[in-house]
Amino acid sequence: MIRQSRGLFDRLSLQLAVVNKLPAPVVGKVGPFLASLKVGPPEIQSALAGLFSPQAGEAATPFIKMIAKWVVNARNAAGQGKKVILVPFNFPTELIHAFESAEPLTSEVLSTLAASCLVGQGEEYWDMAMAMGMPDHLCSANTIELGSMLGCRDFHPQAIISSAPGGCDVNAKMHEFVAHVLNIPHFFLQKPPDDTGRGRERYTVYLQHLIRKLEVFLGEELREDKLRSVLEKANRCTELHYELFDLQKAVPCPVPNIFSLFLYGTRFTMWGTDEGIKTLEAMVRVSKRRLAQKAYPAAKEVARCVWAYTSYYWDFCGFFNWMEEQGYSHLGDGLDLYFPSPVDTSSMDSMIDGLAGAAWNMPMSRQVGAESMSRAWTEDMVFAAKTLKADCVIYCGHHSCKQTWSVVSILRNELEKRLGIPLLVLQGDSWIKRMTPIGVLQQEIDEFVKNVVLHKALPRRSIKKRRQRKWVTV
Ligand code: SF4
Repeated sequence: MIRQSRGLFDRLSLQLAVVNKLPAPVVGKVGPFLASLKVGPPEIQSALAGLFSPQAGEAATPFIKMIAKWVVNARNAAGQGKKVILVPFNFPTELIHAFESAEPLTSEVLSTLAASCLVGQGEEYWDMAMAMGMPDHLCSANTIELGSMLGCRDFHPQAIISSAPGGCDVNAKMHEFVAHVLNIPHFFLQKPPDDTGRGRERYTVYLQHLIRKLEVFLGEELREDKLRSVLEKANRCTELHYELFDLQKAVPCPVPNIFSLFLYGTRFTMWGTDEGIKTLEAMVRVSKRRLAQKAYPAAKEVARCVWAYTSYYWDFCGFFNWMEEQGYSHLGDGLDLYFPSPVDTSSMDSMIDGLAGAAWNMPMSRQVGAESMSRAWTEDMVFAAKTLKADCVIYCGHHSCKQTWSVVSILRNELEKRLGIPLLVLQGDSWIKRMTPIGVLQQEIDEFVKNVVLHKALPRRSIKKRRQRKWVTV
């Protein structure tokens, strides 16, 4: 049943249209002022306090302006004769930016914006999907946004690309179902379960087929000069990504916790655009300044934590800020592990090859869609934890993510064996707060750090000394 209530995209785009109109210096002043007032619904207060925290500095403004432009571009697309193409987060949006007549939207980014910044946190849209009889083991990452499209008169894209086949069944099937119900074209980019050169070649062929189909659908040929200009900007984003990654290695970490979200928020929306570059430059600038000032939000850095897959997005203040106040650095999560490479822009073929490499390396495709998920996920997590000098890894336990749940014990054993660091397994939903309250998550993280991580950091007693210990029997 289609309801008359306002859809997620319509509500978001109304708010962001205002932000898009305001000059950046005004957003930079009004945002922190509103955050300091601490009035209004608690979810909005939390979002403002997280986005405009003093440590995020001036990076919040270009990030929010970038997201506003991305949403408003999609909203105005039809009026400009353009088509909106909805993609999941593991699709490189720079390909869509390279077409003159298309604008990309990303399901999971819209769900995240709703969970963090809309009154009601998007839960009504999840409920709409459930009320239609959708199974409750779907992933809230995309079902919140797609539930809105199915359940009320919301903005609709003109086509959907699904790059989840081969990576995540629930993601792939949900996008396919929505395309079917809305009666719009549905294009696939399937990841072959073959991590050899042969699999990679097949994937490049699949991408070429997809580009041809998009050209027919849009009535526009992908121009070499336009693609080159987008990919040159994407290459600049790649440089900035690695500058930030290098800064994260410093102890204490000068990169604010919420920059993990800003980083992949940029990757999934405006990578390869001027706005994306501006956001990443601001993040690097803020982090360099904090490094020079030896600035850290707590008295000392107590624990360096890498998150194994997703974070929690419905309480920025209770999550990112709270961790910082305890001295727990959030060094990024699995969605930051998309390992960008500079693309050779010398020819059309080299650029499409580079795009295929970028799509292959997107989070979820690279780890969950690998030939051996446990091996690929473990290798990436061990690399991140080791390079960033992490004291521990935390798995959010996102309830629908059966794939990651199925191999998390392997990840725990390997982290313990190879790096000697522990993994905390939480239970929660990254996009729906009803599953586990933030207070419970904070308590579990706190107990884990104090009882396991810090305890492990104490010098170990030798076996001889342990054997000499006198036990008292009662
Ligand atoms: S979080 Fe897990 S279930 Fe959700 S889209 Fe990603 S892989 Fe799929």
